[in-house]
Amino acid sequence: KPGLYLVGTPIGNLEDITLRALRVLKSADVILSEDTRHSGKLLRHYNIRTPLLSYHKFNESQREQRVLRRLKEGEIVVLISDAGTPGISDPGAELAKLCVDENIPVIPIPGPCAVVAALSASGLDTDEFTFVGFLSKHGPSRRERLTASANEARTQIFYVPPHKFSQFLEESSLLFGDSRYIRLIIFIVSLALGWSKRCVMAREMTKIHEEMSVPNQFWRGTLGEAKVRFLNQQPKGEMTLLIEGRTNCLVETPSEDQLEHELGELISR
Ligand code: SAM
Repeated sequence: KPGLYLVGTPIGNLEDITLRALRVLKSADVILSEDTRHSGKLLRHYNIRTPLLSYHKFNESQREQRVLRRLKEGEIVVLISDAGTPGISDPGAELAKLCVDENIPVIPIPGPCAVVAALSASGLDTDEFTFVGFLSKHGPSRRERLTASANEARTQIFYVPPHKFSQFLEESSLLFGDSRYIRLIIFIVSLALGWSKRCVMAREMTKIHEEMSVPNQFWRGTLGEAKVRFLNQQPKGEMTLLIEGRTNCLVETPSEDQLEHELGELISR
């Protein structure tokens, strides 16, 4: 069926691709790909010879009209990114929106996605989470976002470029307050109370390196421990960082009995 197919591709291990994804990639008229050389490797591996057309954040707006025309002519257009799910911190959302506006079918072919893979194996709360993705490079918006994250009760998930990891760890001390002095006091108190936030670094998931056995792909500890461990020894490779939500607060939630008692007192006054 004609339409725009958003196909999930591996985030490391080439075997992580669905049968349906392979079938759609084979039968498409064109595959839009972020990096045609990179995608070429995947397609050659599966003997797929569908023509590729580059589609990345720098030519996205130029390409859109041409792609829409092809879709309106009834072609099957597939969009893939370098890794994972298109549109998730990758090009795709804008094209999907245009297609929706033009009543062109948009069909997801689900597959790998770093945020979901990391969360599912993290050991942190998966009921509710916030996917923050990449923080903006610098400035107040970056700081504001991080501070907002620190106050959220949900698990927070970040994509962190390797060269930004130390900066990220430094900045995450914002989670403990603003001024250095206050931060230090809060940090010590928080350690004493045991509410230093737990974090998980998921690195090079699904990739097969000699030194990267599956247990090594997940580092778990507190933010404080991560700083001690990694600040001067920057880990390499692709990283997804998860920080637990604000679970402990100093104000205790009253028990049912307490509530009833307090309500009773209020009513009797
Ligand atoms: N669209 C992709 C997805 O569905 O996850 C994300 C693309 S984004 C440009 C790339 C970022 O995803 C990396 O910087 C890293 O934070 C994360 N990532 C991708 N592959 C990963 C892997 N194998 N292990 C850990 N994180 C990964």
